[in-house]
Amino acid sequence: MRVLELKNTIINIKQEFSAYFKERDAEINGSLLALLSGEHVLLLGPPGTAKTLLANKICETIEGGNFFHYLLTRFSTPEEVFGPLSLKALERDEFSRRVEGYLPTAHIALLDEIFKANSSILNSLLSVLNERIYHNGKEILEVPLFSVFGASNELPEEEESLEALYDRFLFRYRVDYIQHEENLEKLIFENAEDFEPSTKLPIEEIREIQKRAKNLPVDPEVRTIVKGLRRDLKNSNIFVSDRRWKKIINMLRVASAVNGHSSVNRMTIVLLQHVLWDVPEQREIIRKLILDRVISGGTDTGKMKLDVLDLKNSIYKCLQQELPDLVACTKCFVEEKKTADGMKSSRFSGVKVPKSLTFDNTVDLLKHHTEYPHHTYSVSIDYSNLNKSMSFESLAEMLQKKYGFEFKISLDYGDKKLYEKEYKNLEERLNYFKRQIQEEEKALERTLKENIWVSELDAQEILIKYRSKNADTFEISNYLSDIRALLEKPKVFDVAIEKVGEAA
Ligand SMILES: [Zn+2]
Repeated sequence: MRVLELKNTIINIKQEFSAYFKERDAEINGSLLALLSGEHVLLLGPPGTAKTLLANKICETIEGGNFFHYLLTRFSTPEEVFGPLSLKALERDEFSRRVEGYLPTAHIALLDEIFKANSSILNSLLSVLNERIYHNGKEILEVPLFSVFGASNELPEEEESLEALYDRFLFRYRVDYIQHEENLEKLIFENAEDFEPSTKLPIEEIREIQKRAKNLPVDPEVRTIVKGLRRDLKNSNIFVSDRRWKKIINMLRVASAVNGHSSVNRMTIVLLQHVLWDVPEQREIIRKLILDRVISGGTDTGKMKLDVLDLKNSIYKCLQQELPDLVACTKCFVEEKKTADGMKSSRFSGVKVPKSLTFDNTVDLLKHHTEYPHHTYSVSIDYSNLNKSMSFESLAEMLQKKYGFEFKISLDYGDKKLYEKEYKNLEERLNYFKRQIQEEEKALERTLKENIWVSELDAQEILIKYRSKNADTFEISNYLSDIRALLEKPKVFDVAIEKVGEAA
């Protein structure tokens, strides 16, 4: 089977399963990937959520493998899981089990109520799961196991040996009840006939893809993302062991190999949301951290936004003059909390009193005047007597007469030249960014489409998050036109200055 064929086989299996198991896309995805990468899957959830059925059917798709299914109880004995004692061996004074048909000979196993496993089977179970060996008396058997599907209603109790078992499951899914009414109805009324998966996955193919995946290179940006993610998780107090990370990277290699990719690219990181949590409450935090990391990198509009704002502020500052006196608008009031001096009583604190809106610089004043051309003003000396208000024109005249103050109309030649140059640079940078973002988005869509492991929902969310970078360029573009206006004949001042001229 060629890679493309395997990829199509997986797609077919996924489609078949999704049509039957509603709202279980993530679990189907993970189960298949676990099988292919030789990892174990844990399905956690209340009874009646089809956990066992799903695991059972996934196991049925494997062709040429042995399947072992067992429901554990607190009283399960080793013979039920590993096989009965061999009487012939006992006759020879030896201790061994007849393992044929039991866990040590299975390729795929389904263990229901896995955390009911008691100490009599736990140690052997751990070495089967982890080292893929079974100590059968004196003999050490290499077991052919690919994956164990564990199902449980609840997390294991806090007990060291069960925690070790829990740790063996790379993929963890919290299986909930069907959420959507129509899906529930379909489940109840329509799918009466038993589901028989028709697409099969030959066991040699699994071995083959694992071999192919082994040396697949990992993109440098994936390394960067994983490093960042480890930091994020640490900051959120989520601990992931090094052994787990090693398994994770191996799993990403297999996922990429099935996709037919020649390296592990950053979109596969999305899969990590099902392998990093310890308790279900961490799922959402982890999902958010992962999606943020996945769209990080590439064009960074944040820095550019700061640069543009910087330039805008510099020009403002350059145009800004301090007013010779505090100017108050006699029409606008802001509420200010008044705390009466010396009054300790809480009855008086927090009383709100209206206070005139005041200006100490020309830019703010001119902006206000442009916005409200009919507002009137007074200067602080007349502050107590608000009746003594004057139009903006009279104010300008008064300031000139009294202080010899004149409004600055535009930037000095030297400043203007400097800012023009900076503006040009930023404009070019923005255009470059716009093109870059478009190209990145196209590439992103393509990678998402190629990657059969990324769910529709995740793909949509990633694209939406990515497109917010576009929103950034709109914002930057707006700032740039503000700057343009300031550099030209500042529009904000235009109206005001002309009137000042008329008044003078
Ligand atoms: Zn006003």
